[in-house]
Amino acid sequence: DSSAPTEHGKPAKIYLPNNQIYSERRANATFVILCRNDQLWDTMRSVREIEDKFNHIYHYPYVFLNEVPFTDEFKYRLNNIISSKAEFGLIPHDHWFQPDWIDEEKASASRAQMQSENIIYGGSLSYRNMCRFNSGFFFRHPLMQKYKWYWRIEPDVHFHCDILFDPFLYMEDHNKIYAFTISMYEYERTIQTLWGHVKDFMKQNPQYVHPNNAMGFISDDGSGDRYNLCHFWSNFEIANMEFWRGEAYMSFFEYLDSQGGFYYERWGDAPVHSIAAALFASKDQIHFFDEIGYEHAPYTHCPKEGDHFTRGRCSCNPGNNFDFDGISCLNKFQAFMSRS
Ligand code: GDP
Ligand code: MN
Repeated sequence: DSSAPTEHGKPAKIYLPNNQIYSERRANATFVILCRNDQLWDTMRSVREIEDKFNHIYHYPYVFLNEVPFTDEFKYRLNNIISSKAEFGLIPHDHWFQPDWIDEEKASASRAQMQSENIIYGGSLSYRNMCRFNSGFFFRHPLMQKYKWYWRIEPDVHFHCDILFDPFLYMEDHNKIYAFTISMYEYERTIQTLWGHVKDFMKQNPQYVHPNNAMGFISDDGSGDRYNLCHFWSNFEIANMEFWRGEAYMSFFEYLDSQGGFYYERWGDAPVHSIAAALFASKDQIHFFDEIGYEHAPYTHCPKEGDHFTRGRCSCNPGNNFDFDGISCLNKFQAFMSRS
């Protein structure tokens, strides 16, 4: 009987619902949550959901990051519901705040202008700090260094289904580097010069562009002349930090950062990550997790393939699945993946 206790007293196999078989194998992975102290209760709900749907079995650790120290209450409340280790880190000043070499007059004029045009977060400086941090710094934080894989979680997101497998191990075993659940179009106004800089970088560094890249997903002309604004929604990400820490992405980020567009425009970490994954990785290393039911207002990905919905005991409304929305890029991604 394979469920008989082993020498060290633990059963060799624990049978979980839906015939999952428990394994002690783990990836070198962590959850990472960037948030503010005043988001305590929204963060509690996200963590409680991922614990209930996944981590009460897998016990992956958490890293919380903030540009100000987390309060004792924040740490106490979260530790109380987390089934594994949680670490709470302070972001180094230069990883967060606007660098001195940014022309503040130009930056504040851009914020005022975008605010007057009602561009979402157009007037916000802290949002720009956040986007730059998520683009180029979170994976360099001292608490993140020891990990290879991360799963990004935000306050106030929802996981609608049991997650009956280990997404980190799936990625490791299938040679993936980046996974998403929702993909959509970016607001052009926030990244007006980004693609021009991407093209300049590619011209100067053709060695970084993967021969089997996913340019055909992010550029409708296929040649990369124009960016179609498709990106992976980065509030959910499971990815390999060695990719971000590697030479291609590091020089890409440095190049983009030196253009100042995180402050003179409002470049998001989602298009920056997505463009890099599409260009510097093999297209087969980008993965869509249909199984993971996920909601970040106002959009939900609800599992739809095979038995994912019933097996995961999902509670999302399949009729309200962003996958089929007119502004979803999933169709484009899947069409690209299947034709090439
Ligand atoms: P949205 O998803 O684009 O609407 O942006 P959010 O407001 O959700 O911010 C994205 C992530 O960054 C969330 O995890 C936030 O908690 C976090 N975040 C945003 N601004 C700040 C900030 O000023 N300080 C900290 N510590 N976290 C922030
Ligand atoms: Mn958010």
